[in-house]
Amino acid sequence: MTAKTAQRLSKPDEYAALLDRFDTFLFDCDGVIWTGSTLVPYMIDVLTMLRSKGEYSEFQLRVLAEELNQGMTPIGKNILFVTNNASKSREMYKKAFDGFGIQASVDEIFGSAYASAIYLSKILKFPADKKVYVIGQEGIEEELRSVGIHFTGGTDPEDRVFIPTGDNSSIKNDPSIGAVLCGGDQYINFKKYAKAHTYIMNNPECEFILTNGDASYPVADGTFPGNWWSNLRTYTGLHEENAYDYRLLLRLGCLLLITEVNPPCLVPFGSHEFDPKRTIMIGDNLETDILFGINSNIATLLVMTGVTTESQLIGKHKSDIVPDYIIQSMGDFAVLVDEM
Ligand SMILES: [Mg+2]
Repeated sequence: MTAKTAQRLSKPDEYAALLDRFDTFLFDCDGVIWTGSTLVPYMIDVLTMLRSKGEYSEFQLRVLAEELNQGMTPIGKNILFVTNNASKSREMYKKAFDGFGIQASVDEIFGSAYASAIYLSKILKFPADKKVYVIGQEGIEEELRSVGIHFTGGTDPEDRVFIPTGDNSSIKNDPSIGAVLCGGDQYINFKKYAKAHTYIMNNPECEFILTNGDASYPVADGTFPGNWWSNLRTYTGLHEENAYDYRLLLRLGCLLLITEVNPPCLVPFGSHEFDPKRTIMIGDNLETDILFGINSNIATLLVMTGVTTESQLIGKHKSDIVPDYIIQSMGDFAVLVDEM
């Protein structure tokens, strides 16, 4: 069997052909649309172009001439923002988009905090008399609140403290904890880890749920550590076979909840309908975004404006996860905006 090879896109006609091939574009945010607090150049132009119904440039119209002559009408693209970053709720993301001057509505935004809340409420039907212990920040709390799930931890000042060595008196099991939900947390400390560990080890039914599996996230000068799950997994001795299903967790951080029924089925939790064959996932991370797309049987486009380096694509240590397409930056599509 021939190994899959990614197609590198670098020419305007290649970009136009890709736009023609897909109707729904799932955008990861960090490393694709922005990097830290910096917008990827030309992103607003590109997103506006994708949204503009029937407003193709002359160049695109030339490229699409054959299809147009067959009676096909170019339509605006369906854009959804999916992000593994659980630090923000949908409303908080909306504000971030507004701040960058990007048009977006709350129902187009699917963050992993929201996905986790929906997973707990709709799939697990989390009991009303149980609580979730949160390692994470305001975004997770807001989304849990929005679906009526009780929680502890998170931004509680009592957990944002260092405890004296040897004094573990503040860490006791709480049988009402029915799940530990772990996302990125800039206030991570021993107390939080120890509490999560205690709940997972002592409450037999306790679920261990990750908002996302990213080991790092992109910032202006490189990367910072991502979700803290790997430490927690090491502490508790959980493995893929007996922990909460890891593959599901990776997917959980995105648009669709994919159940492990046979065959796996997509459970959309928004009002968007789309044809998987004409849907493409755009991300900067092979292990999360691209794997999510591959597992969901949709096409994948890797951008190089985020965490992935060339050494993961070529050479001895290249990743086994291969996207369908690679482009340097989504901003490169801006070449289609203006008359060529
Ligand atoms: Mg990313």
